[in-house]
Amino acid sequence: MITIKTTEEINLLREGGWRLAEILAEVARLVKPGVTGKELDMLAEKLIREGGDVPSFLNYRSRGKGVAYPASLCVSVNDQVVHGLPTGTQIIKAGDVVSLDLGLIHQGLFLDSALTLGVGKIDTIAQKLIGTTRESLSIGIAHVVAGKHVGDIGYAIERFIKPHGFGIVRELAGHGVGYEVHEDPYIPNYGKRGAGAELKKGMVVAIEPMINEGGDEIFLDKDGFTYRTRDGKRSAHFEHTVLITDGEPEILTQA
Ligand code: MG
Ligand code: MG
Repeated sequence: MITIKTTEEINLLREGGWRLAEILAEVARLVKPGVTGKELDMLAEKLIREGGDVPSFLNYRSRGKGVAYPASLCVSVNDQVVHGLPTGTQIIKAGDVVSLDLGLIHQGLFLDSALTLGVGKIDTIAQKLIGTTRESLSIGIAHVVAGKHVGDIGYAIERFIKPHGFGIVRELAGHGVGYEVHEDPYIPNYGKRGAGAELKKGMVVAIEPMINEGGDEIFLDKDGFTYRTRDGKRSAHFEHTVLITDGEPEILTQA
């Protein structure tokens, strides 16, 4: 079911989104050679709880899954696309492409955001992958406008990415958010213009292109959480929680 948030809820989402943006930026500053996923996760959880909020991914069970996610942050390195498990043995090194995905619950309302960064000196393909994925998020968000349809977002992202020759992950998608980690509508990063649900003022959605250096195919690692590229090439991910207004889209998860 697609939900419309009230004015009060929207104000709380703005507050929560601002907090999430600040925390994600602070965690990103800790990403350096030698840091572990576990350290990044611990910092993210600490900062969320210090603000009186709750990590939304911790203990989250996705549909059809028996095992709850055991961390607050997802740390996905190189060929890990999303949902990478931050552990003490996951050691970040120079040249890595690192995606951080974080969600929190502020006053009962859910926010979700992700970013990808290069560690130290990264090669030009990695730079292009990260830059193009970041730009594809902005291009998708430009279509998060009342009266447009879910398919318009994916269409815009796909049209932008295709000429670069990168793979668009098709098995995972953006989503409604606010009352839960994942709500309707399901928002693929490809699509047809005018297709799918109509976007309405007061809807809150997470837009999140996941773009691969190589092919679009992914698989679930044997850890049961981490998605990896089939061809072992790298992947990037950017995400914002966005409010549909009666004018320009409002990005909630930016400082
Ligand atoms: Mg996310
Ligand atoms: Mg999301």
